[in-house]
Amino acid sequence: MGPIANLTHESAADIEFVLMDIDDTITTEGKLPSVAYNALWECKNSHLKVIPITGRPAGWCDLIARQWPVDGVVGENGALAFWEEDGHAKRMYHEHAVRNDNEILKRIRFRVLKEIEGTRIAQDQFCRMFDLAIDFAEEEPKLPLSVAQAIQRLCESEGAIAKISSIHVNTWLGHYNKLGMALRFLTERFGYDDLTMRSKVMFFGDSPNDEPMFSHFPNSVAVASINNYLHLVEHYPRYVTSQAGGEGFAEGVVTLLERKRHGS
Ligand SMILES: [Mg+2]
Repeated sequence: MGPIANLTHESAADIEFVLMDIDDTITTEGKLPSVAYNALWECKNSHLKVIPITGRPAGWCDLIARQWPVDGVVGENGALAFWEEDGHAKRMYHEHAVRNDNEILKRIRFRVLKEIEGTRIAQDQFCRMFDLAIDFAEEEPKLPLSVAQAIQRLCESEGAIAKISSIHVNTWLGHYNKLGMALRFLTERFGYDDLTMRSKVMFFGDSPNDEPMFSHFPNSVAVASINNYLHLVEHYPRYVTSQAGGEGFAEGVVTLLERKRHGS
């Protein structure tokens, strides 16, 4: 893991796809700052494909795909991808994704709320299709990572998958993740070939649930907030920005576009 300033002209020139986590990667303290939103537009205007990869729900992804300067969005940690094509809203769902009104997630919900003090269901749960999101740090009181880890263990003991983001623990049934759906979407929508085109992707993330992306793409970038989670991450990203959150993302995009133009 080295500073984003190490990005070379050769690596930057190759990038065609810019993928990014949302929470605490392009947001700062819960808001999307103007520099980060502008950075999305700068990518779009530079003819890069822009694709958020998030744990946020289907309902948010519908808005993002329609309204933001993006070429698609992968949501609910890889359960789905939404995009616009020829004036139509298009949807892709992972074949292993199981709707979240099942008995196992109901039992997890009951047990977490009963057994782990201070936890609560995420307020965006109503627009989720496949996962259950337990809030530990989106709203007050913010609970420590040790609580998130206890929630994760409980979910896993019930046979579910559970991932810790910077704000929620997301739990679901079925084997899929952000990386698998990102690759599928890139391949089916843009003719991406993972054997020959991996270096054309730049991914930005901030936390342990981004780790599959960090380990897969050689041009992976974390915003500075990754430093809070290094003890939970085995596969570090290649680059790290000096600033956290949306300001860090903007810093990364400025560096990418500048290196594309002029070299290092
Ligand atoms: Mg995040």
